[in-house]
Amino acid sequence: MSINVSQQLKAPIGSVRNYEVSEVVDIAGGGSLVQGELRLMRTDRGILAKGTLHTEVEVTCSRCLSLFSCPLALNIEEEYFPAVDVVSGAWLPVPDEPGCFIIDEHHILDLTEAICQYALLAIPMKPLCGEDCAGLCPNCGHNLNHGPCDCPSQGMDPRWSELSKLLYM
Ligand SMILES: [Zn+2]
Ligand SMILES: [Zn+2]
Repeated sequence: MSINVSQQLKAPIGSVRNYEVSEVVDIAGGGSLVQGELRLMRTDRGILAKGTLHTEVEVTCSRCLSLFSCPLALNIEEEYFPAVDVVSGAWLPVPDEPGCFIIDEHHILDLTEAICQYALLAIPMKPLCGEDCAGLCPNCGHNLNHGPCDCPSQGMDPRWSELSKLLYM
């Protein structure tokens, strides 16, 4: 997702450009459509990209193990630093901030890496397909969201009940 910012780098500090995002980005091994609007603002050092993007990724429910589409909101706020001076073409020193983003020598600001990073952070540690996900029967493994299984509700093997406590902690 590349934006040419050469004009904006020549613009005065504080100048703003809105950029409409609607692109498929490879997140966590699958292509996800990312949509939203970003504000690009010229700062004294580079370009600040700020805005909320929305996407969905396929994840596995931690309770019933089925795949579902998990909506993510990405609150992007990243400053991009130019690799070269847009007027003179001279190389600029890279700021010594870990993980900072660079606008390349062709004045291309690439959002893909930031979007991937924000998306990976936004994916819940224990995703649930729904707050009321019924999970799997600890006895036979049946997905209880699809209805009850034939297991007797009483007299569950105590070893399984211990295991299920661990599974659903
Ligand atoms: Zn589930
Ligand atoms: Zn069962």
